[in-house]
Amino acid sequence: MFGTNGIREVVGKTLTTRFVSDVSSAIAWVHQGKGPAVVGMDARTSSPALGRVAAGALAMGGIDVREIGTLPTPAVQYNVRELHAGFGVIVTASHNPPEFNGIKGIAGDGLEFTRETERSVEEAYAAGRFAAQDYRSIGTIVTDGLGATRYLDGITSQVDVAALRKRRFRVVLDCGNGASTVTSPTLLLRLGAKYTTLNGNPDGTFPGHDSEPTEENLQDLIRYVRTIGADIGVAHDGDADRAVFIDEQGTFVPGEKIFTLMARESVKKHGGGVVVTPVTSSDAVADAIAPFGGKVRFTRVGSPVVSRAMQSEGGVFGGEENGGLIFAEHQLARDGAMALAAVLEVLVHSGKTLSELVAELPPYHLVKRKVPCPIALREKVLSEVPALMDRGKAIEVSTLDGVKVRTTEGWVLVRPSGTEPIYRIFAESRDRKAAELLADSMAKSVDTYVRSLQGSA
Ligand code: MG
Repeated sequence: MFGTNGIREVVGKTLTTRFVSDVSSAIAWVHQGKGPAVVGMDARTSSPALGRVAAGALAMGGIDVREIGTLPTPAVQYNVRELHAGFGVIVTASHNPPEFNGIKGIAGDGLEFTRETERSVEEAYAAGRFAAQDYRSIGTIVTDGLGATRYLDGITSQVDVAALRKRRFRVVLDCGNGASTVTSPTLLLRLGAKYTTLNGNPDGTFPGHDSEPTEENLQDLIRYVRTIGADIGVAHDGDADRAVFIDEQGTFVPGEKIFTLMARESVKKHGGGVVVTPVTSSDAVADAIAPFGGKVRFTRVGSPVVSRAMQSEGGVFGGEENGGLIFAEHQLARDGAMALAAVLEVLVHSGKTLSELVAELPPYHLVKRKVPCPIALREKVLSEVPALMDRGKAIEVSTLDGVKVRTTEGWVLVRPSGTEPIYRIFAESRDRKAAELLADSMAKSVDTYVRSLQGSA
């Protein structure tokens, strides 16, 4: 049931009231005696209804519930830890299209459920082991309206608020009608920014643009930053665990650039340390942090894996190239609002613009492609990836996640999507053309090979 980022299904089709109730009951069964639970939700049309179904099922399963309402995913995670709750449940489908929703389980330490917990929930669900309580042991449900304040207090305690207030940055914030509408405008206010919001009201139909913050979806934000001469533009995905940035010239800054910049700043601040990131990340990270005593530790793809690896290795910074940044001293979870505050702090302390800071980074180019591939053919195709290289020579092959082949020109990674019948192809080189050629030639080879397998079947 649980994918790389919890359960995500189509509302009213596979994600029914009954399903949410049964999964929540199974979660309650697995967590008997380990409450209270914090329940939060994103801004989707179905979230208030399904959030209450989850809260009700947990309480019927004997768990005391604290409902904290619509909040970004990292805000719920932060509240679980701050409130010393036993665990948390978030009704969210992050950046998926509006017809989706989902369930994400949070452990007592504020990190996503471990795979073991997920497995226990899946087993309880499959076996129909739902905690049935008599009237004396039903949990209570209380409403807590301080979740946003608690979360923003945590973020502002991490940055130089005095310097930020004095600087009064001009910021354009695109909330994409998601959960950040209830926190990021207030954060900017508290940091003394002069800000304008786009798509700043919660609306689960996502009328402004799709809730994935890609360059294509952020054209209004880009125009607005240019028009008013803002210092930066920032956009969050639907549940605001990610933040992507537009520089002062109105240029979309690729996620791997911000990741590399903030990894460098974190390592500098800590005087060294481990940066944890999936195999999809840029070689620029290692180059940028090495002079400050930083080391990269690669993981499989998925932010929960990165969080757990940071926990076990004492990583100072982590995250992914898609705008998901993890600041260890705040919490071991991707956090869009924390990323926003931290980037502003780097701007004020360095006295540089975002485009100047990005220009200092090692010049790598990361390109991504997608190729359709039926799930049944995945393993077969993966095993052939090194042989399918017809550009550059394979000098190193890593199978930590998918297949990553290093060549003299850079590297190319082929990995099956966790949620769709496609392969994602990533390629990187110091030369943009070379990166594009690596990605395109691999995409073409994989596609041709998949078709030949289908043709012969
Ligand atoms: Mg998200």
